[in-house]
Amino acid sequence: MNIQDNFNTGGDSHPQGFPATVPLSSTCGFDNFGLHPKVMAGVRGARYSEPTPIQARAIPPIMQGQDVIGLAQTGTGKTAAFALPLLHRLLPGPRGRVRTLVISPTRELAEQTYDSFCSLGRSTGLRCTAIYGGVGMEPQVSKLKDGYEIVVACPGRLLDHIWRGTINLDHLEALVIDEADRMFDMGFLPDIRKIVQCIPVARQTLLFSATMPPDIRKLVMEVLRDPITVQVGQTRPANTVAHCLYPVAKHLKTSLLIRLLKETPTESVLVFTRTKRSAERVADHLAREGFRVASLQGNLSQGQRERAMDSFRAGTAKVMVATDIAARGLDVLRISHVVNYDMPDSTDTYTHRIGRTGRIEHKGEAFTFITPEDAAMVRDLEKLLGKPIERRTLDGFDYNKPAPARQATRPTRAGNYPLASRRDSRRPVNTKP
Ligand code: AMP
Repeated sequence: MNIQDNFNTGGDSHPQGFPATVPLSSTCGFDNFGLHPKVMAGVRGARYSEPTPIQARAIPPIMQGQDVIGLAQTGTGKTAAFALPLLHRLLPGPRGRVRTLVISPTRELAEQTYDSFCSLGRSTGLRCTAIYGGVGMEPQVSKLKDGYEIVVACPGRLLDHIWRGTINLDHLEALVIDEADRMFDMGFLPDIRKIVQCIPVARQTLLFSATMPPDIRKLVMEVLRDPITVQVGQTRPANTVAHCLYPVAKHLKTSLLIRLLKETPTESVLVFTRTKRSAERVADHLAREGFRVASLQGNLSQGQRERAMDSFRAGTAKVMVATDIAARGLDVLRISHVVNYDMPDSTDTYTHRIGRTGRIEHKGEAFTFITPEDAAMVRDLEKLLGKPIERRTLDGFDYNKPAPARQATRPTRAGNYPLASRRDSRRPVNTKP
């Protein structure tokens, strides 16, 4: 399959107020970029046959040292779009000092970006490290003394190192702000501004974001110089994903999920819930039904998070139940289905969630459970997709089953969770899905 087919390449449009966008050359292959042979060895090692649209557009200006705004979401190949040209630029210069800094919103994304630099840069001799919170500071301090050319960092821990003087950024040549809109959602923009004040003014700056809310535009004006914008159609989910809606009463969502998982041929499945507690509760139900399941939510320790991610990546756990924040940066190519157990809070969040399936050369399905109160969001999603979304019902599923009588919402020690919350049992149940 031609990799270009997998992306919404529609957008040569650019966010108002930003200059030139880069046209997509139809003849563009990795060989045409003029990347250093040691970087090309990384491309071959990763078995990338053709650049993705964001790579085709972003690699040439980044190689030339320009500031770039990359409007692209996870799943478009955006990491290699900045990693490859930065490796190329780093190759001729001095070693043993931090020359490229990538700021990531989450530990998981930082780890994945670190992995990408390591594998793509394997033949370059350049060294990369990742630093983030939730793990000991001291091992990072001694690692930073070793001298790395590339540092991938989360904002909070990076600032700790800057204040303690355990990282030297005086020789920085390039700054990458990755998933800027997520940084904003997570309240990191003040930290980003502090970091920018501590690094050299003469540098190349790249900013990647799936969306361009006003606060990110403001940040762009402050930290980038004459940036050019490269964009792939990031505002809509990839066209390799089929979307459908399952109208269902709240108290029946878990039983519907179990039936769907039993009856649908799937590879890995990512289930999104709105709250940490419901992620735990749904995962617990699935485990009791015999599914190999992991859950990711903010209550986990770093070790637990890593184990959950690893088991999902390795396919030991077939189903991952997660909240939006916890699942940031989760990069698993085999996700065949994303299930929105709870409707996301915005169309951007929907796009982010769905971006986990239908990845490069893969097809995916997005199932969204809807209740009457999700009507406005359904309208917004249909507007986003430009067409009505198919409503589905599951044959033989009892949609009229009443909510159980009022019961406690807290899990018992034995891990028994009631199917309905208190609020559910007080509300009228939608009996016409
Ligand atoms: P990203 O958007 O950076 O999270 O990348 C998504 C996935 O696409 C990762 O697993 C990359 O290894 C993979 N990828 C990146 N570039 C290419 C390419 N040119 N061809 C095939 N796969 C790619």
